[in-house]
Amino acid sequence: MKVAVFLPELIRHLFRKPATVDYPFQKLEVPPDFRGTPFLHPDRCIACKACERDCPAEAIEIATVNEAEKTFKMVIHNDRCIHCAQCVDSCPTTPKAMEMDKLFEIAAFDRHDLKAEWVFARAVLKKEPKPAPAVPQAEPPPA
Ligand code: SF4
Ligand code: SF4
Repeated sequence: MKVAVFLPELIRHLFRKPATVDYPFQKLEVPPDFRGTPFLHPDRCIACKACERDCPAEAIEIATVNEAEKTFKMVIHNDRCIHCAQCVDSCPTTPKAMEMDKLFEIAAFDRHDLKAEWVFARAVLKKEPKPAPAVPQAEPPPA
């Protein structure tokens, strides 16, 4: 093929910004809905186990630590996690006890280093107080 065919394209690209970045020295911002790594807000968790039940990779384990004190231990096995965010979707609390962060560089030499653990007391669901009924206003006396 003749060089003349490529030449206009080559010249055009000489003046364009590069399409890639110099990773890992330069990093791009991930999009706002990026599914990084799941993590727990232990103060919000009601230990309902919906996340453990629905996780398609069986990456979440929740065990009772002390039945009387209602304390639990959650382990997320990030070596199994497929970053689907099903655990976040299944979590019934508001705000969510389970969330995804923006991390994507979580490689480790030992898979066990990817385990994340929390021991926590079960949160109590807070109910919104009902608004007080409106007090009827007395009619002003006729002038
Ligand atoms: S992101 Fe998906 S695979 Fe990972 S822990 Fe949550 S439900 Fe399981
Ligand atoms: S993180 Fe959410 S879904 Fe999982 S046990 Fe806690 S409250 Fe339930």
